[in-house]
Amino acid sequence: MLIGSIEAGGTKFVCAVGNEDYRVLDKTSFPTTDPESTLNKVIDYFNQFDLEAIGVASFGPIELRKNSEKYGYITNTPKPGWQDVDFVGILRDHFNVPITWTTDVNGSAYGEYVMSTLANEKTKSLVYYTIGTGVGAGAVVNGDFIGSLGHPEMGHVLVKRHPDDLNFEGICPFHHDCLEGLVAGPTFEARIGKKGADVDINDPVWNIMAWYIAQAAMQTTLTLRPDKIVFGGGVINDTLMDKVRSQFSDMMNGYIDIPNLEQYLTRPLIKDNGSANLGNFALAYQELKA
Ligand code: ADP
Ligand code: ZN
Repeated sequence: MLIGSIEAGGTKFVCAVGNEDYRVLDKTSFPTTDPESTLNKVIDYFNQFDLEAIGVASFGPIELRKNSEKYGYITNTPKPGWQDVDFVGILRDHFNVPITWTTDVNGSAYGEYVMSTLANEKTKSLVYYTIGTGVGAGAVVNGDFIGSLGHPEMGHVLVKRHPDDLNFEGICPFHHDCLEGLVAGPTFEARIGKKGADVDINDPVWNIMAWYIAQAAMQTTLTLRPDKIVFGGGVINDTLMDKVRSQFSDMMNGYIDIPNLEQYLTRPLIKDNGSANLGNFALAYQELKA
């Protein structure tokens, strides 16, 4: 059985073909350009296979209420050209198979949830954050996503400012200094004029990043009490995660019982950014079986 997966990112699309064991059999990626050429590439790629279902995890905001006439659309995204695009409708015109539709971070959250179960972790609830070009999070509780009016937008929560960061305006076009405005990848250029990948790991900016990410972890812990919080995205590295755990522990100040921090605040179980793909395979396979 062949299942297709699309991880639609604002920067690039990753398409993969997998099987019912969620194993990747083939994979390709290409830059996200205009909707027509990008989706045509997806269609050409998938036309090579005899797919039985397709899972899509997309950048957003997206419409995921099944009773909306805009179900399957990317809605009011700031990404030029991509407002009001009928993503699922275009796929349906070419592929007569079940198609699942969720956000990129929901897809990743689901992949990590499935993998945790396969790894016998007994994870019942999980939140997945991406700290990349943007910031967002998805939450899975007992196999279901949280969010019925729309998907969560945890990337845009407000955080307390770091005392050494008061002069930085933040880069979120909507809120300036929300979480995304303070820790998304492009904040490195905005704060210190260097790309994230070129910033020395001893640079104090990492303490500022950790302070905000730890607050996100604290709010999420206090609000949802998930079994674990997974951090993915290009900005995350092991040293940053150690700083986040330590700041989190200081902020929480022993208020509630937290599992072992290495396991509680963690990087993805699925390597090579494969979480969303695996989540898509699992969601599409379940839709097919339903
Ligand atoms: P996307 O969010 O577009 O799917 P990524 O998760 O790879 O992609 O995140 C890309 C962002 O991460 C960019 O803003 C990039 O500058 C930043 N980034 C990439 N590598 C690093 C690194 N080693 N350290 C910090 N930031 C990085
Ligand atoms: Zn914002």
